[in-house]
Amino acid sequence: MNIVLFGPPGAGKGTQADSISKNFNLFKISTGDLLRQEIKKETNLGKKIKITIDKGSLVSDDIITDLVFKILNEKKNIGGLIFDGYPRNLNQAKDLDTLIKKENKNISCVLSLFVDKNTIIKRILGRVACSKCGLIFNKYFNPPSETKHNCGSKFLTLRSDDTEKTVKSRIEIYENETLPIIDYYKDQKILYKIDASREINKIYEEIRGILTSLET
Ligand SMILES: [Zn+2]
Repeated sequence: MNIVLFGPPGAGKGTQADSISKNFNLFKISTGDLLRQEIKKETNLGKKIKITIDKGSLVSDDIITDLVFKILNEKKNIGGLIFDGYPRNLNQAKDLDTLIKKENKNISCVLSLFVDKNTIIKRILGRVACSKCGLIFNKYFNPPSETKHNCGSKFLTLRSDDTEKTVKSRIEIYENETLPIIDYYKDQKILYKIDASREINKIYEEIRGILTSLET
């Protein structure tokens, strides 16, 4: 089983990816991780990537495809994969199809987490952390009441450097780059939309149901 997972910032994509990977024994492929590993290995490609990233530019689709090709080869004998935050655009989605077909595999399903803008903004901007005990709260969804937290409010600081404007712009970038891919997978009839405004466990339960039905 090979899965693609999409989600805007604040949708809890990372948490879901980790749960799916652990419970369904899927190897997680995140292009962010692949890029960081290549840089760390100091290969020629890694050096090229570092220069690009340091300049603030985007790493080209060809480089990303090369890295994915390499990891697919290394993980040939692994039962299943989960792609986290990849593909990023239609070009990459088509490359992935080609690569995965070469391995005589296919994409079993594409999970697209969606959350409305206002919830995302509150989730990201509302996060506060206690510098004394390390607990994390959310001003809107999980306020640090006296029963939950007794260090006092003076230790609580906002977690995010974002403003409403920067969060909105991140959501827009996500939507612009992801919508064409979502349609591409919808046409292939492998797209599942998941309401990610619910609690983490509820979201995971729905995902588990979908993946379990695909396994049989
Ligand atoms: Zn505390």
